[in-house]
Amino acid sequence: MSTLCWLCNQETLSKSVQLRSKKEALIQYCGSCHFEFFSHENKSLLIGDQLDKTRLQSAGLDIPKQEKDFENGYKQSQSYIQEYLTKEDIGKNILEIGCSWGYFLKAVREFGAVPYGVEINPVRASYVAENLNIRCEADIEKYHSSAIKFKKIFSFYCLEYIKNPIDFFKRLFDLLEDGGEMIFITPNLDDVLKDIWKNKGYQDFFYDECAIAYYSSQAVKSLVHVLKKEHDDLKETIYTQQGYSFYNHLHWYFNQKPINNNSLVGGDHLSEDLRQVFGAKKDKISLELVKIIDDFDVQYRKVIEGNDLGNQIIMRIQKNDL
Ligand SMILES: [Zn+2]
Repeated sequence: MSTLCWLCNQETLSKSVQLRSKKEALIQYCGSCHFEFFSHENKSLLIGDQLDKTRLQSAGLDIPKQEKDFENGYKQSQSYIQEYLTKEDIGKNILEIGCSWGYFLKAVREFGAVPYGVEINPVRASYVAENLNIRCEADIEKYHSSAIKFKKIFSFYCLEYIKNPIDFFKRLFDLLEDGGEMIFITPNLDDVLKDIWKNKGYQDFFYDECAIAYYSSQAVKSLVHVLKKEHDDLKETIYTQQGYSFYNHLHWYFNQKPINNNSLVGGDHLSEDLRQVFGAKKDKISLELVKIIDDFDVQYRKVIEGNDLGNQIIMRIQKNDL
């Protein structure tokens, strides 16, 4: 029996990959979209609080305590706010899909917009509702039935958990107000560490049981292409960003495993850490070394992003103001 591509509906091929938990699994591959996905169900894993177990623990990484997790997420959210919210968003409804403990939504409220969340994990969803006093639903249908519209809909590292993405986006699109925008970040299937370095440790770490959809830039374009058949009024911007530094990749090269307790999702602070080692002294040699370290990393990321190989894919889809 053949499995059809979730994006373009053509027949896919299957191949065996190793999961982060060391299990083997069959993944479907669409050559025309350059998209990979698992047909298995992941919902019970996500609802049952198993995500961090498969994502972190099975790879030998520590699961951060709730407070630490919140603190890290909140810190990272500040850069998202700076990058993606403008003064036009003040007072407007903002929705986050997969809001976890609600750290981004807290930052959204502090910015002056009105936050709403969707979170499938019931422990986290009730934390957001009760401790942060922010409306949080288990799925988007609840928002459909209350006829609310959003100026912006965000999702950071969540698209990879969603089955039937076309239906999902069609439903989301109806929740956007005219002129509204969806901003999604998802890991890139075309990852430089996996495909160019061909780092074996990373190749065996890349696929996670809970994450069932793996997009390349081409796959995201294919997704938008399908959505445009029904909504020719949408405008998209798709690009990749390299969040991890060259120094993170060197760590992989020498150790074949991730850095434990890295506080950033999809990136690291190693360049800044190295700058601290040398930069604190402000003497001529130290400053020259800092410059080399910085310049090299900047050039490294530029080449990667210039070839659509950055580890994050950023997808912005705007609904035209009619
Ligand atoms: Zn396809």
